[in-house]
Amino acid sequence: MAFRVHSDIFSRHFEDFRKLMSSSALAALSESLDGCPVLRTTDSGTYLSKLVGILYDGGASDWFHRKMTTVPFDELRGIAIVAARYKVRAVIDEVLARLSQCFPSSDLSRFNGNLDFSGWPNPPIGIRQEDAIAAVKLAKLLEAPFLLPAAFAVCAGIDYDCLVKGVVYGDEVVRLDDEELLSCLGGQGLLLEENTQVMKTLLEFIVAAPSSLKDKCRNRSDCNVAIGKLALSAVEIGHFATPCALDPMDGWFSDVYQARPDLKPCTHCQKALQNTVNKRREETWQKLGGIYGVAPWPVANK
Ligand SMILES: [Zn+2]
Repeated sequence: MAFRVHSDIFSRHFEDFRKLMSSSALAALSESLDGCPVLRTTDSGTYLSKLVGILYDGGASDWFHRKMTTVPFDELRGIAIVAARYKVRAVIDEVLARLSQCFPSSDLSRFNGNLDFSGWPNPPIGIRQEDAIAAVKLAKLLEAPFLLPAAFAVCAGIDYDCLVKGVVYGDEVVRLDDEELLSCLGGQGLLLEENTQVMKTLLEFIVAAPSSLKDKCRNRSDCNVAIGKLALSAVEIGHFATPCALDPMDGWFSDVYQARPDLKPCTHCQKALQNTVNKRREETWQKLGGIYGVAPWPVANK
């Protein structure tokens, strides 16, 4: 694949091309095509051509309008690899901004363990859970360790077969190396331990509900039975067998309530329970940096 490009546009955006594109360097190239000097590279032609298109369109490129466009993960990854190679800062920054929305580093409320963005009008990336494996690699390539805790936490929910065999992009298989795999499995073990804390939180709520409920809840014993059954149903469906200590329970509560209205405590108990569980999730989130070796954690909001 061959591209004819303006050397000044390439030199402006491609830091590493500046020397290669100087008039003396171009004059020294021995090969030429249609009167233009030929510079050969080993990059993927598909992604290099997309990158060139993004740079030629500049700010008008859809690429830079993340609220309006969804970039498929394999395309984002391919472009990111070429952009990293030539240090194209504007494109790398956009890749990081999009990845940060899928793998947040500050606010737990933005973490989505299944990478299910079906409710979003325009997700920043068309991404699947198994793409978190390649996201770990991208975080390292782009020197963005702050993406690692959330990326590893998503990996913790991927089935072992995929985790070990890797994920396929075209003719390339991306796998975690041994050290990354150990880190992922170690983190998964700790997240599973955190599940017992979530269960403990539910049981403590039943044994000693927050004092604020005393004057609000009219029937604590009925509410306690409902919450006990709710916890039991979570155990029965295997909720605590998966690393779910970071998952919001709000959606799960409403699903259960819809199927089993008899499990619904009063609105006061319901709200207090959700707040208590969310506080517990926050404690796990605070530990995530330590689990995956990233400090400081969480990262302060910019
Ligand atoms: Zn109640």
